Parts: sequence; structure tokens; C-alpha cells
Amino acid sequence: MTPPARASALLSRGRCFPAASRFRRPLVRAFCDAPPSLQDAAAGVASSQDQSEKVDGMKARPDELDIAIVGGGMVGLAVACALSNMLLTKHLRVGIIDSNPALKSRNYLKKDGIPDSRVSTVTPATISFFREIGAWEHVQYQRHAFFGKMQVWDYTGLGYTRYSARDVGKEYLGCVVENKVLCNSLLLRLQEENGDIEKMIYPTRLISLAFPSKSRQAPTSAAVSSGYTSEELHHSNLVKLELSDGQTLYSKLVVGADGSKSNVRRTAGIKTTGWNYPQSAIICTVEHITENDCAWQRFLPCGPIALLPIGDNFSNVVWTMSPEESLRHKSMSPEDFVKSVNNALDFGYGPHPHSGSLDYYMEKLFSDIGSTAASTKECFEVPPKAIGVVSERMAFPLSLKHSHDYVSKRLALVGDAAHTVHPLAGQGVNLGFGDAAALAKVIADGVSVGADFGDISLLKRYENDRKAANVAMAAVLDGFQKIYSVDFGPLNVLRAAAFHGAQYISPLKKNIISYAMGDTKWPLFS
Ligand SMILES: Cc1cc2nc3c(=O)[nH]c(=O)nc-3n(C[C@H](O)[C@H](O)[C@H](O)COP(=O)(O)OP(=O)(O)OC[C@H]3O[C@@H](n4cnc5c(N)ncnc54)[C@H](O)[C@@H]3O)c2cc1C
Repeated sequence: MTPPARASALLSRGRCFPAASRFRRPLVRAFCDAPPSLQDAAAGVASSQDQSEKVDGMKARPDELDIAIVGGGMVGLAVACALSNMLLTKHLRVGIIDSNPALKSRNYLKKDGIPDSRVSTVTPATISFFREIGAWEHVQYQRHAFFGKMQVWDYTGLGYTRYSARDVGKEYLGCVVENKVLCNSLLLRLQEENGDIEKMIYPTRLISLAFPSKSRQAPTSAAVSSGYTSEELHHSNLVKLELSDGQTLYSKLVVGADGSKSNVRRTAGIKTTGWNYPQSAIICTVEHITENDCAWQRFLPCGPIALLPIGDNFSNVVWTMSPEESLRHKSMSPEDFVKSVNNALDFGYGPHPHSGSLDYYMEKLFSDIGSTAASTKECFEVPPKAIGVVSERMAFPLSLKHSHDYVSKRLALVGDAAHTVHPLAGQGVNLGFGDAAALAKVIADGVSVGADFGDISLLKRYENDRKAANVAMAAVLDGFQKIYSVDFGPLNVLRAAAFHGAQYISPLKKNIISYAMGDTKWPLFS
């Protein structure tokens, strides 16, 4: 066969790889018939898949994927899980590229060990998403701790706020889960859906990416006649991924889930806006004499300290301070560290807040605005004392970073690759799970009408859905960080008064709780 004949035969056989040809049938249905329901379309996709494999007699090439997810952290795995859980997308060939040895885990993690120092406070919105994709039941068999109460106060002694799930008619405000349990639950769910997930996981790292540029677009007839190989023709419109083990993959869509220093984002030339905070967070697990069932957070001059329940008599500490202080706290003796934590959560830096005549007037004044929240009358409590530090102490530099774009042709960024926020409200990975759910839905919508899910106009719908909500949360958290970085008498009083007001203005309090729980997308009165 001459090169032109070989090329035109290839072109007429189909420029898409076999998996992609599955999408043609629903497209035809969508135009010929009345618009199909999503379920019908899904059935169309599934049957066309069987058909195309029978008719073409061709299996997808092992180096070709529909979707390559770079980064198998919590968010990358959530994207894979959401896709494999939907009828419309479960047939897609998805690969997860990450050399993290944690991806080898296939069993429940023991509940009786010492909890890891890396945990996440997951919101009810995240829990609903995990339930939808079938991963929450695996979390339930491993360590996790729901909490229904939260107390926030500051070092000036001028005010405190207590939040209760009862204020918004819910059973809990959130749940603290070790990051490794969240990853493990997603892996177990992927295994349930896909059987052998070894084929899906590439235990290696991404070295380089090449997006289809004009020079890599489908060859023109002139180029064809100048001798393109069948491989080149086939791959011309796909992203090329080079891996550290020497493999090369081709994919219709790349999902960058490779964290805040994202290589994918950098290679795609996507710029970010942001800054480093002059703070680091030190995290670890501490032990108490009794079980802790409340999330505590105190704002100190150096930054907030949080004590989060993680089950049994353990809590997780997330303490923000200057990088120098974090190094000192990392290297001090365990006894001194425990003393320092207890001091920071008790009388250190300032007195306990106390109720006074101001509270009487606040309650009277604001009781007209709405019914009083259940937690308004709750007194300030001192958190349980730590008796020992039982895990490694880790320190993380903190930054705010936001990608100018979340998508480009054949690319979508999710999780920390798209945005990193201050951890003071434990929202980072919750935003990432929101991205995962939204991206999977947009891909499914594309599949249902036979669209190319690497197409930028489709992917923009994902960006539009997530960007505004993520920016709003980043701004709220940055505002808190800034308000609490200034130690200036009059501002301290103003700040504490605003803080204390939130204890009494029920609609405001309920709105804050709903926003932090992920139930509303916008911070105020949405
Ligand atoms: C101290 C602290 C406390 C926090 N607490 C909370 C909390 O309570 N609640 C909350 O919601 N969020 C919290 N966060 C934020 C949360 O940890 C992050 O948002 C989350 O880890 C982001 O997940 P990710 O999957 O996007 O990225 P990552 O967890 O960074 O995962 C990225 C993955 O990509 C892989 N990777 C990187 N480069 C490559 C490459 N070239 N090739 C292949 N793979 C690659 C890595 O191995 C890694 O597995 C906290 C953050 C900090 C620092």
C-alpha cells in the first residue's frame, strides 16, 4: 500500500481510538431520536462499546487511554472513582499515574493503631459525595470521628463562639478522617467497580507532556503524502505522556491532580496567582485521658491552633506559627511540646473568655433577628488536656495559590493543582472533592451527547462551575488569616466583638455553619 492509500485507509477506519468510537452511537441517537434520558444514553454507550469491539475486532491499544489522571492523591482517586461509578463513564479507559507506594493498599487499615498525623476534616457535602460514589462505606470500616460541636475563641479573652450541628438540624458538623483512610477507601471502591485495578495504576511518575499542537494535529493530505506512519496518524490529536519508567502513553484528556507544585500545570503553561504565608503548620497526634468529641480552635497571635477529635482518646493538632517557631516546636522534647500545646489551648497568651453583662444585652438585641441557635447559651469550655504526643511531628509551609485557568484543550486541573488555601478551616481537600464531582459530571454530560470530552468548550463548564466557589473560599480564609495576623488593641476589641456577635446572630451563625459544611456555595446569606 502506498503512503497516501495507507493514510486514507486509516483515516476512513477512524481517527479515534476504539474506546472513543463508542461515543459515536449515542451521538447518532441524540440527533435521530427524541433526546434520550441519561439512562438511555448510558445504555447506548454500553451497547455501542460491545458492538464496536465485535465489529472492529479491535482492542484499545495498551498505550492509549481515554483519561490519564496524573496524581493518585485523594483528589485524583476521587475523579477515577466518580468516573467508574457512573453508567455513562464507567467504560472509559482511565489510568492513574503515581509512584506513591500507598496506592498498593488493598485492605482495610487497622483501627487499633496510632492515628496518622495527616488527617482531613471532611464536610457533610464531601461525605454525601463519598456516599454517592460508594466509597463512604469503606471509610466506616476504618478509623474516623464525627463531631457535632465546635468551639472557636481567641487569645484576647473577649469572646468565643460555639457551634452545634443541632443549630442547623444536622447530626454532625463534619468528620475527621486520616488521609490514608480516604485514599484507601477510594482504592477499595475502585477495585470493587473494576476488579483488577493493577491495570489502571501506573506506579511511576510523569516526566513530560506534549499537547496536540498545530504541528501534532491530524496531518493534512499533503503531510500524509509525505509519509506519516499509522502510529503518528493515530496519536496526532492525543496528549503524549512520557513516564519515568520509560513508557509512553497517549490520552484524550489529562487530569492534573498532582498537587500544589503541579508539573502538569507548569508544562501546560498555566499561570497562578498567590503568595506564601509567613507561617507553617505543625501537625501531630496527641493522646488524652478521655475521648474528645468536639473540634476546638483558638486564634493565637502567631496563628490558629486546632485540636480535632480522631477517635478513641486521640486528637490531631494543627498549629500555625512562624516557620522558625515550627522548627523549634518540631525539635523540642515531647514533654515540652505537650506543655506548649496545653498552654496554647488554655491560659497561654491571654485569659479565658467569660460571660458578662455584654452577653445579656447581645442576646436581648439579637433575639429579634431570628430564633436563638441551640448553642448560643452554651458556656465556654476548656479543651481536654493532652497527656502525650504519639506521632511524628510534621511541618508544612503554607501558601495561597490559584490557577488562572483550570482547563485547556485536553486538560483539566483539580484539587491542589488548581488551588491551595490556608488550612485554618480545613477546606482544602473538600474543595478538591467538589472539583472531582463536577469534572466527572461534565465528562458524563459530554459522553451522553457523543461530544469529545477533551474539548475546551465542554471543559469550560467545569471551570465555570468550580472557579467562583473556590475563589470565594480562598478569599474568606485569606481574610481570616490577615485579620488575625495583626495584634493591635482597638482592632483586637473590634475583631472579638464581631466574633462574639456571631454567637448571638442566629441567621449569621447558621449561614457560617452551612458554608463551612459545604451545604452552600457562597459565604453570606445564600
Ligand atoms: C497542615 C495541613 C492540614 C490540612 N488539613 C485539611 C483539612 O482538615 N481538611 C481539608 O479539606 N484539607 C486540609 N488540608 C489540605 C489538603 O491536605 C490538600 O488540599 C489535599 O492533600 C490535596 O489533595 P490532592 O490530591 O489535590 O493533592 P496531593 O495530596 O498533593 O496529591 C498529589 C499526588 O500527586 C502525585 N504526584 C506529584 N507529582 C507527580 C508526577 N510528576 N507524576 C505522578 N504523580 C505525581 C503525588 O505523589 C501525590 O500522590 C490541609 C493541608 C495542610 C498542609
